[in-house]
Amino acid sequence: MPDFTQPSEIAREVLRRLAQRRIPPTPDNYLALYHEISGTPPTEVFPERRLKSIAAAMPREVPEQLRLGRLLDQSIAEKNWVSLKQALSEAFTKLGASPPNWSALLRELMGQLDARSTGVTTAQKREAMDRVLAASATPDLLFQRLQGLLRNWARAPEDSAQPLAEMPGDIVLPAATTSAPPRAVAPSAERGGAEWRELIALILDNALPPLLADAPDLAEEAAQLSTEIRSPEITAQVHSFSVRLKKFIYRLHFIAEDQAELKAALLSLLRLLVENIDELVIDDEWLQGQVAVVSDLVNQPLNLRRLDDVERRLRDLIYKQSTLKKSLNDARDRLRSMLATFVDRLADMSATTGDYHQKMERCASRVGAAQDIAELTDVLDEVMRETRTIQFSALKSRDDLSEMRLRVDEAEKEVARLQEELAQTSDMVRIDALTGTLNRKGMDEALEREVARTRRQSVSLCVALLDIDNFKHLNDNLGHEAGDEALKHLAQVVREAIRPQDTLARYGGEEFVILLPDTPLDAGVSAMARVQRELTRKFFLHKNEKLLITFSCGVAELGNDEASAAVLNRADQAMYLAKRAGKNRVVAA
Ligand code: GH3
Ligand code: MG
Ligand code: MG
Repeated sequence: MPDFTQPSEIAREVLRRLAQRRIPPTPDNYLALYHEISGTPPTEVFPERRLKSIAAAMPREVPEQLRLGRLLDQSIAEKNWVSLKQALSEAFTKLGASPPNWSALLRELMGQLDARSTGVTTAQKREAMDRVLAASATPDLLFQRLQGLLRNWARAPEDSAQPLAEMPGDIVLPAATTSAPPRAVAPSAERGGAEWRELIALILDNALPPLLADAPDLAEEAAQLSTEIRSPEITAQVHSFSVRLKKFIYRLHFIAEDQAELKAALLSLLRLLVENIDELVIDDEWLQGQVAVVSDLVNQPLNLRRLDDVERRLRDLIYKQSTLKKSLNDARDRLRSMLATFVDRLADMSATTGDYHQKMERCASRVGAAQDIAELTDVLDEVMRETRTIQFSALKSRDDLSEMRLRVDEAEKEVARLQEELAQTSDMVRIDALTGTLNRKGMDEALEREVARTRRQSVSLCVALLDIDNFKHLNDNLGHEAGDEALKHLAQVVREAIRPQDTLARYGGEEFVILLPDTPLDAGVSAMARVQRELTRKFFLHKNEKLLITFSCGVAELGNDEASAAVLNRADQAMYLAKRAGKNRVVAA
């Protein structure tokens, strides 16, 4: 391919390629091709002036507005899209929530602090407030916890001997410990009380320790409380025990809140990191696959199964990539060392020829000064000898160099092959690990491609969405593993029944999407009916038992100007109608 250096040549080439690839000549397309040909990185203009004028128009009266304003200014000054996005999304989030009414809360707190009617002493209230003030990291959390205090002070019984001073939120203890009178326990309540105590002990022993891995003193306290509540003496000390239990619950509540906050903060940090990496290393073939996996994860609600799946895929990917990376580095090293030898040989050669020239010059001056023939014969002999040596060494160097050239070519090919393989491992993130079909991400990309092709070539495209019938029943009766096998079986049968140019993808749990290019609606419906018949012929075998799997399917044909999400949505609605009409059928959208 010729290199274009002059702007006028590049411009001409851009126009030629636009026409050749049938790309509409919009400014954006022109710019992208221009950079592609000139080999320069595409420049994205940061609209600093306009953003500054928008930021200047924002109100900055209260501290929070001032802070967000500063964040906006800074992001614009640094031309940082990520922090700009963050500042804007924070502002919008704040818009949704009504601002905490601090003055009402403080007034209420001051009023309650000295009120004697609630059965909690002022000293206890002050102590509780001190603790809340020390333990709340953010204004929102502080507000929430102070509100919790107020609620508890208001709830405490007037003449109660058991102050609920520090109870935040809505924690309520079971009747056996809260409402039992301080000392005497009614015999009729004795058995019920014992059951309650055992239940509380079970919670303290089994449910709490995993939550308290990071709070060993609290875990110890839980163990201590559980031993005490099981001991017969407890009935005589119900009151003091219940006070300690409440304190314990109070601290537990804080820990749970902190953990929830921690989880949210970590997730948001991870999201930020992934977004950032994605922007920075968009061309890095090593990281792209990994980033795609994690970014998929953080943009959906977390659950253990998904985390597990992502970890497995990531490990697989990292392992494959690291092996490949090693081979690639080896191949590159070999290439580098061969090139170094190549250069050495060239240097040797020029040194040899340099020597030869010097000798020839010396011979020439000896010829000039020669007095007789005998002297000339000597010189001539030397010239012949030297010439023969340099000829030999030149021939050898030429052979060496051409052999090395072959080896360099081979090494280059190896590097290219490894790089190609690496690109393919990054593609693993587009494959569903269970069925080997495309996953949802792969399907999204394939659908975009097919839609673009359909428009370019003015042909038709059908999108079919199928959902296995009563799959939950199969899972519940035969187990999850049998369910997985059934999914694999279905994918296999569908793959064999569709044409090579059709695309099968797992859309989610037991739903699959099939893209049928060059297919009008009626042909799409018959194709899916054929798949359905195939499935009745090829039974799913579970422990030698033949099981019939059926599915309900919706088929939609891509409309003019219809977006890919819309056609998928219509297929989904048609599938739903197929379910409503009694399942095991294909419905056209
Ligand atoms: P319907 O005929 O209305 O579609 O009923 P259904 O039981 O197929 O649908 P439902 O949505 O109630 O249940 C789908 C089930 O698919 C629930 C879930 O346990 C199961 N499932 C989803 N993904 C997997 C998977 O990867 N493996 C297995 N074994 N089961 C899965
Ligand atoms: Mg379903
Ligand atoms: Mg189903």
